[in-house]
Amino acid sequence: MQVIAHCPICMSDAFISHGKRSAQGNLNFYAQFVPNPIDRFDRDIHECLQCGMQYIYPMYENGDLAVLYDSEGYQRFRNAISKAALATAANADANKIDYLNYILERSAALGLARHLDTHRQKHKGRAARLLDIGSGEGHELHAFSAMGFDVTGIDLSDPLIAEVKRTYGHEVRKIALEDMDTREKFDVVTAFHLIEHLKDPHALFAKVRDLLNPDGIFLVETPVAEDGGLTAQRFRDIYHTMFFDHFSLALLAAKNGFIPLRMTHRHFHAGTYFHSYMTMVFQYNPVFHAMFGQFETVAILWMKSILSTLIEDARDWGRNDLRYRHKLGAEPIRFPTLATAASEIKQAG
Ligand SMILES: [Zn+2]
Repeated sequence: MQVIAHCPICMSDAFISHGKRSAQGNLNFYAQFVPNPIDRFDRDIHECLQCGMQYIYPMYENGDLAVLYDSEGYQRFRNAISKAALATAANADANKIDYLNYILERSAALGLARHLDTHRQKHKGRAARLLDIGSGEGHELHAFSAMGFDVTGIDLSDPLIAEVKRTYGHEVRKIALEDMDTREKFDVVTAFHLIEHLKDPHALFAKVRDLLNPDGIFLVETPVAEDGGLTAQRFRDIYHTMFFDHFSLALLAAKNGFIPLRMTHRHFHAGTYFHSYMTMVFQYNPVFHAMFGQFETVAILWMKSILSTLIEDARDWGRNDLRYRHKLGAEPIRFPTLATAASEIKQAG
């Protein structure tokens, strides 16, 4: 039987292959924590010729994901990344505060504070409810709580849930997104660096739609695929299944009835790493949803015009952001090189 590759976003079977992820160099150090990483997690990297999406093929099965995320290895990987990101330097606390400030600043650029104010006025002072999917170490959750949101975090990792309680005092629920009861509603849902790990991002958007109040917004942050030369490096990370650009992310959202409202795009160098992230805020619109199904070409053209405006704005914000950080004299966050991360892991035993 011939297996046809389908883009996980637009379902087109037109693609070019960039070869195996292992052909991009050694799999990243995370691979050492799972059994037989090459046999099990090596995949072809495809690029969709219709929407530009980059994804592994064949896509992981649920059993693959269970091996990746249930392992003690995932915990050690998170610890290594988090520690190295926030605490390689002697001034770990300063780095952490700098990172929290960065989240607040980025949130301001995305209009979240305004959203919070409008919500308060409309709802007799009640704070907007925010759900953070995959809270991890809780930095974002804490920053949003400090902003005034009534926050709820969900995660599947017991050690991370305990860490958030210890560090910030927030209770994170241990529950998968798909198991959330949709009678519970939120005004804002956030997903930081989550969708590049999934096998079905459409299911994520559909579930978020059901959890949002009318006028609620969905904030998604993910690495950008299109920045030259980086994709290969990122696909060496066996936890990554796909990379978006501005269009493919907006297309995923639009297919589920969401319109892009705001966007930021941030580049920074950290040691040998070059990072490029986009953060987009979407709003569900039932009329647009119905229209998209019937008039897809028109809807995409309209969405593209919104997107080009947002991209221009995001470039401006990126420049302002760099100036702001320079003025503060804050050190950039130091992300680990492979060598430092590996030595962290070794020290952690
Ligand atoms: Zn596609």
